[in-house]
Amino acid sequence: MSAALPPNATIGIVGGGQLGRMSALAAARLGYRCHILTPESDSPAALVAAEATIGAFEDRAVLGRFAAAVDVITFEFENISAEGLDLLAALRPVRPAPGVLRISQDRIAEKSFLNQAGIATAPWAAIEAPEELAPALARLGLPAVLKTTRFGYDGKGQALLRAAAGAEAVARDLTPWPLVLEGFVEYAAEISVVVARGADGAISAFDPVENRHRDHILDLTLAPAPVPGPVAEAAAAIARRVAGALDLVGLLAVEMFVDREGRVLVNEIAPRPHNSGHWTIDACPASQFEMHVRAVAGLPLPAASRHSDAVMKNLVGPDEIALWPEILAAPGLIPHHYGKTEARPGRKMGHVTRLFPRGALPGALGVAAALGPLAAGER
Ligand code: AMP
Repeated sequence: MSAALPPNATIGIVGGGQLGRMSALAAARLGYRCHILTPESDSPAALVAAEATIGAFEDRAVLGRFAAAVDVITFEFENISAEGLDLLAALRPVRPAPGVLRISQDRIAEKSFLNQAGIATAPWAAIEAPEELAPALARLGLPAVLKTTRFGYDGKGQALLRAAAGAEAVARDLTPWPLVLEGFVEYAAEISVVVARGADGAISAFDPVENRHRDHILDLTLAPAPVPGPVAEAAAAIARRVAGALDLVGLLAVEMFVDREGRVLVNEIAPRPHNSGHWTIDACPASQFEMHVRAVAGLPLPAASRHSDAVMKNLVGPDEIALWPEILAAPGLIPHHYGKTEARPGRKMGHVTRLFPRGALPGALGVAAALGPLAAGER
């Protein structure tokens, strides 16, 4: 597919979560229809899309039916099989390509790819068997972080090792193998960059943002990241380099650590819209979701410019979404609800954005105050 997708064409989105929902909303504004593939009935994305196929990602007949009904395919969910995406790619253009998902799905493939592209990560070692752990710990030092290579998210599938004693028992509890051991980064900040790359190789990168987590789940994003200029420039350059090295067509988030010396190390990449880019809906003329749709549809990419500074706060679990009436009544909070009916602990139910004039992002106390009814838990 080289020509731009015409209005009223259909974009197939694999995955039915909030990332698909916000992509479908952006697609609708550009005149496209979206067709969601998800095993879930009443998924956040299907609720705002033209069509949905409800079925298992592993079911070849389901994949075939879905592909036949769409013009181009993308994904908002990474824990699908790359083989399933290959099958779809034989029927319709898939953007980003299945090979990009293969790299991002596997921490060993991901780190190998990054290091080969000349991009720094935390020091790491693949752990294929329990007896490989002790020598790797001796080489990387303590503390260290042991992670599964696949299917990890929001801190699941990883353990912090503070001592060599007992480490093997911890490792045996993590599945599936192989595992990856990483040196612990004493980071000054966690930052990320969302970058889009078009079929013509043009790149648009949003400004680096700072991400603060609570219980391993993203809590706050500060845009732009309050880091020195050279750090922000290094982060943006890394994101562009990763997108180019992957020959990406689509959207990519690059999560990074800034260490105490101001070095930028890549933690992981995600070839899809990202929670740390939600602020762009309200603070940018073209959001990450519009960039995603434009890249997938073969449209030109505008500059990833930002008219405002922003703070994004996630609404996680039953307690935060219970504040919805207060959020709606609070001046300045821009509300986003994902339409999920069941608020389980740790589940992302929505988010709010607060805008500030460019250059006027407040410090910690100001951020807390700006969040109104959500300020209680912020430090
Ligand atoms: P991940 O699943 O790789 O995104 O890791 C989840 C969180 O664990 C990160 O956001 C960090 O806060 C922390 N973390 C992961 N890896 C490391 C590391 N090598 N050093 C320090 N903290 C880490």
